[in-house]
Amino acid sequence: MQTIINFIQDIYQTKEFIPLHEPRFRGNEKKYLNECIDSTFVSSVGKFVDLFEEQFASYVGAKYAVATVNGTSALHVALTVGGVSDDDEVITQALTFIATCNAISYCGAKPVFIDVDLETSGMSAKALEAFLQQNCIVKNGECINKTTNKRVKACVPMHTFGHPCEIDTIAQICKKWHIVLVEDSAESLGSFYKQEHTGTFGKMGCFSFNGNKIITSGGGGVVVTDDEVLAKKLKHLTTTAKVPHKWEYSHDIIGYNYRMPNLNAALLVAQLEELEGFLASKRELAQKYAHFFEDFDDIEFIKEPDNAQSNYWLNAITCKDKKMRDEWLEFTNANGVMTRPVWKLMSELGMFKMCQNDGLKNSKYLSDRVINIPSSVL
Ligand SMILES: *Cc1c(COP(=O)(O)O)cnc(C)c1O
Repeated sequence: MQTIINFIQDIYQTKEFIPLHEPRFRGNEKKYLNECIDSTFVSSVGKFVDLFEEQFASYVGAKYAVATVNGTSALHVALTVGGVSDDDEVITQALTFIATCNAISYCGAKPVFIDVDLETSGMSAKALEAFLQQNCIVKNGECINKTTNKRVKACVPMHTFGHPCEIDTIAQICKKWHIVLVEDSAESLGSFYKQEHTGTFGKMGCFSFNGNKIITSGGGGVVVTDDEVLAKKLKHLTTTAKVPHKWEYSHDIIGYNYRMPNLNAALLVAQLEELEGFLASKRELAQKYAHFFEDFDDIEFIKEPDNAQSNYWLNAITCKDKKMRDEWLEFTNANGVMTRPVWKLMSELGMFKMCQNDGLKNSKYLSDRVINIPSSVL
């Protein structure tokens, strides 16, 4: 096990503590932040928010982008304008970060957990189809879960660690079953599936710019869509639902104060300029890891799936069993190299224990064995 410590210390050229993922600010970050402060427009109005939205939409190939305070709020408003409401069900994966399920819960809906593929660590198209066939019917243009008698309004697959799931097939299935597809692309900025950017396959895609993501605004998020009506609703809902007027304060629905401050957007515009370089560096790092782990019979390095180009946001390995995973976690963390297990399955948390699931065979397998390893840009 000492060889992994030496290897990672060598990669990062340090004997000091090595974190899992730290941001890099080597471009115009300070310049734009200073511009922002000098202009006094540090808050909810300013050119950087508009600039970021334009540039981001263009990068991922969507018509519209609406910036938000974080990825969780992006998911919350996307599900809301997607029509998810009280008593609905939303299909997602159990192997995800808590934010996905929190956002579903804020809408008053309940998650239903579908298994992931071992090849992608993301939602399995096959498992989704099987679940729908077994449990659901389409009635009056709506998908109804026969077991619970509730409407399945939306589906939120997640591109785990930045590796795209089989999103084109999932999109087809959702269409057939009258389910709104919202991608949780929080981890997959810079990841493409069959040459198309993740987050652009469904009605909406949500991204996060939290401090640990591939680029960061301190905190931040964005929803992308090609639908002009949805884009307008998203903007309205995230900006307190204020009715435009020269001076009057009037609001036509209960909105949210979810707008990204201009200060964060300034940081983000600079980070977006760095993205291509970050992606190249991460690809190089992933290749080094892939090569290193070839010598281990009982460890598998998780590579990008077929048909996909991953951003390799968080590198991950699969250990032969849970015991080995725990030994590796103990050893690396005791020796100054930060590693982490994958999230505890959502279906095992008290709040979601009662939610329906499909057995989650692969999710359980991965959740016992996967370790994330240091992945900061070199
Ligand atoms: C980071 C992340 C989010 C959003 O998190 P915020 O901290 O609210 O920006 C959502 N889903 C997944 C899977 C994530 O990794």
